[in-house]
Amino acid sequence: MGIVAGVDEAGRGPWAGPVVAACVILNTDIENLDEINDSKQLSEKKREKLYEIIKSNSTYGIGVVSNKEIDKLGIVKATELAIKRAIEHIKTKPSFLLIDGRDNFTLPIKYKTIIKGDSKIKSIAAASILAKVWRDRYMKLVADIYPEYGFEKHKGYGTEKHIENLKKYGVCDLHRLSYKPVAKIAQNESKKPRLLLHACCAPCATSVIERLKTRYELELFFFNPNIHPKKEYQARLDEIKKLCGFHKIKLHIGQYDVKKWLQMVKIYKNSKEGEKRCTICYALRMFETAKLGLELNFDYFTTTLSVSPLKKYDKIQKIGKTLSKKFNIKFEEEDFKKKDGFKRSVELSKQFNFYRQNYCGCIYSLLESKKRGVYERDTDKKTD
Ligand code: SF4
Repeated sequence: MGIVAGVDEAGRGPWAGPVVAACVILNTDIENLDEINDSKQLSEKKREKLYEIIKSNSTYGIGVVSNKEIDKLGIVKATELAIKRAIEHIKTKPSFLLIDGRDNFTLPIKYKTIIKGDSKIKSIAAASILAKVWRDRYMKLVADIYPEYGFEKHKGYGTEKHIENLKKYGVCDLHRLSYKPVAKIAQNESKKPRLLLHACCAPCATSVIERLKTRYELELFFFNPNIHPKKEYQARLDEIKKLCGFHKIKLHIGQYDVKKWLQMVKIYKNSKEGEKRCTICYALRMFETAKLGLELNFDYFTTTLSVSPLKKYDKIQKIGKTLSKKFNIKFEEEDFKKKDGFKRSVELSKQFNFYRQNYCGCIYSLLESKKRGVYERDTDKKTD
C-alpha cells in the first residue's frame, strides 16, 4: 500500500468560519500512542498538547476552505477541496488515504473512507486533532475582529448564544449564508428599514451604530462644515472612513464649506457652547441629512450629536421633528447619551484606537477649550 496518510476535517457543521482538513503521516514512534484519539473525545487542553506532539512527530498538511467558498460549492465539495489543499501542503506525498466518514470524493490519490475512522485509526485521529485545533485557534483570532458573536467560545456552531447574537447584530463576513438558519436571519435583516445617520465624528458614531444596526439598515452621512482647522476635519473624516470600512457601511460625505458656516452663525459667535450658535449648527447639519435622506429614499434619519453630554437633546429632538414633517422622512428619536451611550462610545473608541478630539469642532469651541486649558494638539501629534 506504500505510504498511508490519515485524513479528517473540522468545521462542517458551524454556521461561520472555514472548514479545515488535515492529512497526517505519523512517525513510527508515535503511531501507537494511546492518547491520540478522536478529537471530539478529548478535552481542549489535551488536544492542544497532542497538537504539538503530532506536529513534531509527523508529516502533515492543512487545507482551509473559507465560508464564502463553502457557500459557493456546498459543504461536501468544500470538504473535498480542503482535503485536496491539505494533500498539496504535505511534503511527503502519500500513496493511499484513509478518510474519516462515508462521502465520495474525487481526489488525486486513492482512498478508503472509514465510518468513525477517527476513533479506529491513529493517523485519522491525529488528523482530526490537527484540523480541530487549527480551526479553533483561527476562530479565537477572528473573535477579536468580530467580538459581538462569541466565536472564541462556540467556534461558529449554532449555539443559543450564537443565535441570540446573530439576531442582535446581524450576519458578518464570516457567516455561511448558504446555511438555512443564517440565511433566514440575513433575509429578515434585508427587510429592515433604511436609516441615514448623520455622524459628527467616529467616537460618537461607534455606540450609535452598535445600538441602531440591529434595527436598521444603516448608511452614514459625514457633514460637518463647522470643523476647524481643515486638518482636524480631515482627521475626523479619516476615522469615520475606518469605522464605516469596519462595519461595511456606505459613507456619504457632505461639502466642507467653513466660510458659509461662519457666515450663518456670525451673529452668535460669542454665544456659549450649547446655546444659539449650536442650535443653528445642529439645524444645518440635520437639515442636510434629512434632505439627503429624502433624495436617497431613506425611511429614517437621525444624528449622533446627542451622544455628547454637552449637547441638549430637547433642541435636537425639536429640530428632528420639524425636519421630519418638512421632508416627510421619519426621525429616529433617541437621546444617544442615555443608557450609558456616551460611556460606551468612550469604550469602543479605545477598542478601535480612534483619535478622540477634545473640542466640539468649530473655531469658537476650539478657543473655548484653549481657554479652559484642555486643548492639546492631538491632530498634530497624529498627522505630523
Ligand atoms: S460648539 Fe459644536 S455644535 Fe456648537 S457651534 Fe461649535 S461646532 Fe457647532
